[in-house]
Amino acid sequence: MIDLHTHSRFSDGSDSPTTLAKNAARAGISAIALTDHDTTASHEEMATACADEGIRLIPGVELSLKDPEFPKNGDGRSVHVLAYFLPLEANHPIQQKLATLRLDRRQRNEKLIATLQGFGFDEVTFERVTAEAGNVDNIGRPHVAAVMVAQYPAVFGPKGQETTQKIFAEWLGTDAKAYIPRDSYTIDEFVAAAAGSGTLFSVAHPIMNYLGDWSLATIERAMPRVIHSLRDRGFVGVESYYGGFDAPTRALMVKLTRDAGLIPTGGSDYHGSYKPDVALGRGRVGDLVVPEEILDELDARR
Ligand code: AMP
Ligand code: FE
Ligand code: FE
Ligand code: ZN
Repeated sequence: MIDLHTHSRFSDGSDSPTTLAKNAARAGISAIALTDHDTTASHEEMATACADEGIRLIPGVELSLKDPEFPKNGDGRSVHVLAYFLPLEANHPIQQKLATLRLDRRQRNEKLIATLQGFGFDEVTFERVTAEAGNVDNIGRPHVAAVMVAQYPAVFGPKGQETTQKIFAEWLGTDAKAYIPRDSYTIDEFVAAAAGSGTLFSVAHPIMNYLGDWSLATIERAMPRVIHSLRDRGFVGVESYYGGFDAPTRALMVKLTRDAGLIPTGGSDYHGSYKPDVALGRGRVGDLVVPEEILDELDARR
């Protein structure tokens, strides 16, 4: 079993890299990509842990970038992009861009917390959110949501996936009251910075990024234009075997990806206790299977 989309405590997952590698070994995973948001700081520990467990580690990261080709609310659409086999040396242009994305994230977090306080959530402080994340660089919206639940149980109800969804719908999500946009680079700027480095790009959970609804008819109508555009701009993959899609959606996404000549990548988007219904390797419903040949195809494109 392979899993090409996972998060650790270095972003908004709950497992340390060491725990993640142990959990992956227990789940029967032979190759894993650790794709923390905007950072590869997790890879040093993860490399040691995966070597100990006999698991192959694919260097990865999940980036928040803008896609000006598919604007939303008058600006480039905010899109999650998976980058595999990227250079890890701090002085590489890609790593410098990652550092800027983290700075952006930090400024967004400060604005987001101030905005929530403006709505009366005075107990949602930078200190509490930092403590929840473990490190100021690792903060993501799920940590903010966790502090909201912990501080305002009477408002939001018990901790859990449903409560988190409600908080994203009302406060933190793209169309919600306290949403603060943050992306500093376009897809094209980032892909250009990676030229010649062997980095491979795949768009993460493309339906969530690009489509308003999840019906198969909408996917079939609207997704080919997205996939062709990304292909023409340097992407090699589309995350079609995604842990949050149901089986018919995955099958359709794989077909559309293959029709465009791209590689259908896949993974669970495991976040540990921040997304308790998602299993490493097996996804949300537990029926995810990412074919091992996908990794061979990626290797062949490096
Ligand atoms: P950030 O990187 O801080 O902008 O936060 C984005 C993260 O928030 C995603 O990677 C998910 O882990 C989480 N997230 C985004 N939208 C939702 C949602 N509607 N429900 C639950 N979690 C979400
Ligand atoms: Fe996340
Ligand atoms: Fe994502
Ligand atoms: Zn993710």
